[in-house]
Parts: sequence; structure tokens; C-alpha cells
Amino acid sequence: MQKLGITTQQDLLLHLPLRYMDETHVTAIRDLRSGDQVQIEGEIVHAEVQYKPRKMLIARLEDASGQLNLRFLHFYPSQIAALKVGKRIRAFGEARQAFVGWEMVHPQCRVAQPDTPVAENLTPIYPAAAGLTQATLRKWIAWALQQNSLQETLPAWVYQALHLPEFADSLHALHHPSPEANLQALQERTTPAWRRLAFDELLAQQLSMRRHYARRRSLGAPALLPSTKLVPALLQSLPFTLTAAQQKVVQEITQDLALAYPMQRLLQGDVGSGKTIVATVAALQAMENGWQVAIMAPTEILAEQHYQKMQSWLAPLAIEIAWLVGSQGKKARTTALEAIANGRAKLAVGTHALFQEQVQFANLGLSIVDEQHRFGVQQRLSLRQKGAQPHQLMMSATPIPRTLSMSYYADLDVSVIDELPPGRSPVATRLVSDARRDEVLERVHEACSQGRQAYWVCPLIEESETLQLQTAQDTYALLSESFPDLHTGLIHGRMKAAEKQAVMEAFSAGAIQLLVATTVIEVGVDVPNASLMVIEHAERFGLSQLHQLRGRVGRGAAQSACILLYQQPLSETARARLKIIRESADGFEIAKADLHLRGPGEFLGLRQSGVPMLKIADLERDVDLLEQAQANAEKLLQQHPEAVALHLQRWMNQAEEWVKV
Ligand code: ADP
Ligand code: MG
Repeated sequence: MQKLGITTQQDLLLHLPLRYMDETHVTAIRDLRSGDQVQIEGEIVHAEVQYKPRKMLIARLEDASGQLNLRFLHFYPSQIAALKVGKRIRAFGEARQAFVGWEMVHPQCRVAQPDTPVAENLTPIYPAAAGLTQATLRKWIAWALQQNSLQETLPAWVYQALHLPEFADSLHALHHPSPEANLQALQERTTPAWRRLAFDELLAQQLSMRRHYARRRSLGAPALLPSTKLVPALLQSLPFTLTAAQQKVVQEITQDLALAYPMQRLLQGDVGSGKTIVATVAALQAMENGWQVAIMAPTEILAEQHYQKMQSWLAPLAIEIAWLVGSQGKKARTTALEAIANGRAKLAVGTHALFQEQVQFANLGLSIVDEQHRFGVQQRLSLRQKGAQPHQLMMSATPIPRTLSMSYYADLDVSVIDELPPGRSPVATRLVSDARRDEVLERVHEACSQGRQAYWVCPLIEESETLQLQTAQDTYALLSESFPDLHTGLIHGRMKAAEKQAVMEAFSAGAIQLLVATTVIEVGVDVPNASLMVIEHAERFGLSQLHQLRGRVGRGAAQSACILLYQQPLSETARARLKIIRESADGFEIAKADLHLRGPGEFLGLRQSGVPMLKIADLERDVDLLEQAQANAEKLLQQHPEAVALHLQRWMNQAEEWVKV
């Protein structure tokens, strides 16, 4: 039970069925419809173990109306014995009209007498674990249902307004559904009882997130007055003016920083929307008020780029920047640590090395995390929880669909840059079969010969980093050989930081025309003259990742293109996904589709993290309940603290974990 997350009586009650079996009646074979989950009963009239095309057990069952084959690809000797000719069997499974007639694959079978009663209720099937049978789970859950622990946590007006039943009734309806219950609605979790539980779960999530939010708001942080010198000076020195969307988010951040409690803001904006300058404006506001700022990036390449860019923007304002990454030499590191500790460096730029224990800030007022979705869950967690004193600005180029930001990110304020700077030409995206690789090579050669630059992105090989590296090296060798007249470069994650830096600098300066890369260039890299990107094995990438990669081109005035090379044959889903990328340039649309295809766990990168997701509610199906949960959470927190306490106690196991996302 512990394996299933069940440690209390409440957990047992909330261990809800995965699906249901309808064993309340026996269907005649004549009345079967293909695809139905049904129970049939009859006598075994033939049984044999076949060996071709593969080993399987087939038993033919006959009732008064017809025959059906029970087919087992995996079976035990005990099953062969149980399904002997002449035995009377009751089988439950999906009936299918196969080539040879009706069949059921791997049905559940038991010996029946002519008068064996049928079930009174629909039979729940629970998530189980090795050594824990359905029967045991059912017994324990039935016990828990009788223990009087079904106390209503919410005031009646909350669920009545939503036409939802009481908690106790809902639980009974889910664990022991009546034979009249709508089986399909039960399976799809759209009955009032399921909706009540989904609402409760979403409400618990909202309550714990809002409480977490309120707790942080009760902490003090420096109130930072709007900048009157540094920000105007920076904006004046820029060759462009901020877009309306950038101005709007700058305003939101400026106001938030002026409050005397820690900002917790997520800045979202599509790739290329110009988040860096917004972050710099926020940083200057803190510095003008006499506080230090830390800017953290997920990779050294990106940190390096920020450093360069900030140097060029801030040097005229006489601001010293410290640079801190894991790979730097001892001397450089000591100097940086000193400058950070004595407050000489007003700004520190680096990787997560910035948040290690040895790093002591003189007075950190604002920490900025770029591409926050690229940090692991643990890192994100430690960041959000670290002291909680400084203001925090988190930036993400993977747009977070509304349902996700309303749920898993409900403890953050969100600003969105919903417009790209003017003068960008959209990236023309083409799907090209790997069979036409030669044409693609020609196109790359042509673009580079005309003074433009190109990326060649090597496939993602999830099983093996070594293999991925190998592929990148092979591709590099091949391309340099094919194009002796071009300067070709290679960059990958296993290179030393200084090497990567040198390659990126050469590419930025135009000394490298064609850059072969692994996904290390996925985030933030900004080389406006690069206008062509080829992505190999595009079908292996996630949608948002492809969108991120593609965002590396289309940053300059030249018409840009992205070629997605794919390997035949392409599955239906793979084709559908690539089509989304080809047809949409809108990161939000793509993220929504990505979320739909992969589910929230994968989307948020939580799959391996052990952080539990919502178990009952489905953000797509239950979006109306999510909105209601949000609205009701506010009211309950203000007017019914006792209900909040009760409710969170019931959902505590999950509630503790959600805030970690
Ligand atoms: P991202 O949001 O992906 O981090 P960046 O901050 O790297 O985007 O900005 C992409 C490019 O656009 C940079 O070269 C930046 O200097 C430029 N940029 C940012 N804001 C504007 C603007 N308002 N007008 C023109 N160019 C801009
Ligand atoms: Mg960026």
C-alpha cells in the first residue's frame, strides 16, 4: 500500500478506481457489439495451445446463441487446466469481431455454475501493485468507507452552486457505483461524483498554492523605488525602443518591486520576444536602490551571452559585473566571489554556481532566473525556497498554457510579452524527408556562400549521450569534407566551457559559417546573421523544443528558414506533431498542442521528479472546475479558515507536493 502512496485511511478513501467492469449482467454472444467490454458465459467446447504464428492458448466458448474464442498470448499451466473442454466459464473482456469470428484477448475468466449470481454493482478496478490484489483493495476500501471518516470539508453553498453532490455520496458512488450508473460517463470521469472529487482536488491545490503565496508575501523585502537615472540612461542608449508588450511588463515589474515584500514573478515571452532587456531594466531598478542583482542562466553558453550583452549595455553606466560559472579557474573565481561579497559587483551573472553556499552576496535584492524551465525540479525548488528574501524574476520562453499557470504555477504572478519586436520576418518551416538530404546540403552551401550562416542540429538520442556525441562528430566530419570552401564548426555539451565559448564567439563574429550543434544551442543563443537551420530527425524532438531551436534563426533582417529533416516512415502522431510546428509560429499555440500530446507531467519535466501530478482532475477536461476552484479558494481563505484547514488536511499528501512544482 505504501508503494501506492496509501498510508492513512483518507488515502485509502481517495484511492479511486482506474476503470469499472460491468459484471451486473451476462451478454449473449449473439448480442455482442465489437469493442464492448462485456461479460459472457458458456461452456468450453474446444481448447488448444497453438504454436504458429506464435505460441498461444485458444479456448472456444459456446453459449445458447453462438461461439467466441478466448485468446491468451501469455498464460500459465493453471489456465490451460481451467479452460478444459466441458468447463463452464464466465469471461469478462473486450469483445472483438476478428477474422475468424468473435474473440476476447486476455479476458478475465472464472468457473461458473448455472446459478452463480451476477454482481450487484459495477466492479471498480483500482490501481494495484505486486502482491496486492483487487480483492484486498476492495475489502480495505469498503472497510474505510464504513469508518465514518467521510466528513464534509466544504460549506454546502460551495458545491451546491456547482450542482455537485456531497463528498460522502460522491465517494460511495465512485467506489460502489449503482448498476444504473452510466458506465461510459464513469469511465470518462464526467459523472457528478467524479466532478466533485476533481473539484476537491483542484481546490486543495489552489488553497495550498495560495497559502504558500500568502506566506511568502508576509516576508519582508526591500521596497525598490522606480529608477530615475539608470533605466532612462539605458533605454536612451539602445538602438531600438521597447515594444508595447515590453513596456507593459516593465511596468508590472517596476510596480511589483516597489512593494515591501518579495516579488515572485514569472515572465513569459516567446523566443526572441526580448526578455533580456526587460530583465536588465528590472536589475537596474534594484541597483539604483543600492541592491545587488544575480542573473542565473541554465548553461554556460547562455550565461556568457548575457554577460557580454550586459557588459555592453552597463559598462557605459559604470556598473561592475561579476562572472561566475562552475568551470572557471580558481583565480577568476576568487576575484568574482570577492567582488560579490564586498558589494563592488552590483551585478553577478552566471550559472547555478551563483547559488552555491560559498557565494555570499553583500546585499542581494533581486535574483533573476533565465529559462527557468530548463532547470531541474530540485534546482527550481531550492531557488524558490532560498531565503525567499530577495525579489525573484523567473523567465521562460516555453509559454505555459493558461490551465497550467492557473494550477501548478498558481503561487506565482505572471507577466506575458505577447508581441515580437518589429522587423522580424517569420521563419519559413519545411518538412523534408531524409531521402532528399542532398538538396538540403546544397541549400546550406548556397546560403553560407552568400554570406549568411547556418545551424545544423544533430538528432537527440535519448538512450545515449555518447551516441549523440558520436553522431555530432560524424556529421561535423562529413559536412567539413563536403564543403571544403566553408568554415565549419562543432559545438556539443561535452566540450569544455572555454572551448564552447570560443566556438560561439567565432560563430557570432562570422568566422564560422556553418555550425554543427547538439541541443546545447537550444536556449537563448542569439546570432542575428544566422538565417538557416537544419534539424535532423526532427521527429524525435518535443514540439516546444523544436520551437525553441527554430527561434535561433529569424533574428535578423534576412528571410530565414528552418528545415525539419525526418526519417521515413513517419507515424501518424509524428506527422501530426511536425505539422503543428510547420503551420504555427506561435509559441503559445505550440505549447498548448504539446501539452495536449504529452500531458502535464512530461510538459513540465516532472516525469522523473517524483512530484505527483493531479491524480483525479484533468486540466483539459475539467477547466471549468479549475476556474471555480480558483474563485472559491479566495473566498474560503478569507471567510472559512476552518474549512480550508479541514480540506487541506484531507488532501495533505498531495498538497505538500504541489507547491514544489
Ligand atoms: P528572448 O526573449 O528570447 O530572451 P532576447 O532578449 O534574446 O529574446 O532578444 C532577442 C533579440 O531582440 C536581441 O538581439 C535583442 O537585443 C532584440 N530586441 C529586444 N527588444 C527589442 C525591441 N524592442 N526592438 C528590437 N529589437 C529588440
Ligand atoms: Mg533569452
